[in-house]
Amino acid sequence: MSHTAHQRASYKLLVVDDDPQTARLVRSWYEGRPYEIFEAADGAAGLEMARSVEPDLMLLDLRMPKVDGLTVARTIKTDPRLRTIPIILLTACRDVDDKVEAFSAGADDYVTKPFAFEEVDARIQAMLRRREQWVGLVSTVADLRESNARLEQLLITDEKTGLHNFREFQRKLTEEFQRAERYDMPLALVLFDIDHFKVLNDTLGHVAGDKALREFATLVAGGARNTDTAARYGGEEFAVILPHTDSEMAARVAERIRKAVEAFVFLDDEVPTRITVSGGVAGYPESDDTDSVDALVRAADKALYRAKSGGRNRIVIADERQEPRRPKSHRRRTGVNRPIVPRD
Ligand code: GH3
Ligand code: MG
Ligand code: MG
Repeated sequence: MSHTAHQRASYKLLVVDDDPQTARLVRSWYEGRPYEIFEAADGAAGLEMARSVEPDLMLLDLRMPKVDGLTVARTIKTDPRLRTIPIILLTACRDVDDKVEAFSAGADDYVTKPFAFEEVDARIQAMLRRREQWVGLVSTVADLRESNARLEQLLITDEKTGLHNFREFQRKLTEEFQRAERYDMPLALVLFDIDHFKVLNDTLGHVAGDKALREFATLVAGGARNTDTAARYGGEEFAVILPHTDSEMAARVAERIRKAVEAFVFLDDEVPTRITVSGGVAGYPESDDTDSVDALVRAADKALYRAKSGGRNRIVIADERQEPRRPKSHRRRTGVNRPIVPRD
């Protein structure tokens, strides 16, 4: 969507003056031209009308009973919704102090009464031009923000599956690792690798393979919790980052995903196909082997390898040292290299 500014069909001018002559003059000047004239006879009514009409420009008399022009100008210019409305103050006197005060109250320009309307009109046109440019600028900034957000989204998204990509996985894992270290909280990582995916690719082709990958990604994302981050790690490998979670709990999440994959019929519309997945789980701070981001990934990868060599279609938790390295309240002893649910 583009907000590009172009010449407007009509302009709304608000005249605030206790002297009805001013509005009459403005009306007759702009007769038959695309200007809509609104008028108010005192400051309070002028403010109210500014709020309801949101004019493109205000002609504002300085001296009025009750609420004077300076007060109106100040109020308009401190209202976030109205402050971009240009204000031309109309003043009867040629007193320098009045002019200075008018500008400090937020007026954009002034004209002294009695005025030649040619001059007022020229000033109005100049103001409207500037406002148009400003509105154009604002919408350009909005457009840029929008496309920036889209680019940012592209930058972190895996095109094929819509999950986070490897870059975002790395960034997120580093961020969560630092958080876990600082607040002494557990953090778990699951790496998944689809079993015998090459066979599916070789028999059904890459297009079908890609579609199966997308279906698989949906199952991974659906099985992860809201606070987890699901990402495509590469090819047919996926990762889930689980903050505030130890490896045993993470293995339960992974096991749920494994089961969902096992139960799902892939490529149902074309060639209904079964797929299984293997997963490796590692947790920080469960051993020296998970003491850095890289070490945590390596530990999960090693566990994944064991899941593969152990027969596939299973989740394996990384090795733990026998002795706890540091006393941690959330540390739990978990079995070494054991599948959560032995298969076959
Ligand atoms: P394993 O159980 O040992 O993991 O066997 P595998 O066949 O899954 O393992 P391998 O790593 O040998 O093969 C992975 C295959 O995944 C190779 C490639 O054909 C396929 N693959 C990787 N990325 C993509 C992709 O983006 N699209 C498609 N269609 N296939 C991919
Ligand atoms: Mg692989
Ligand atoms: Mg594989």
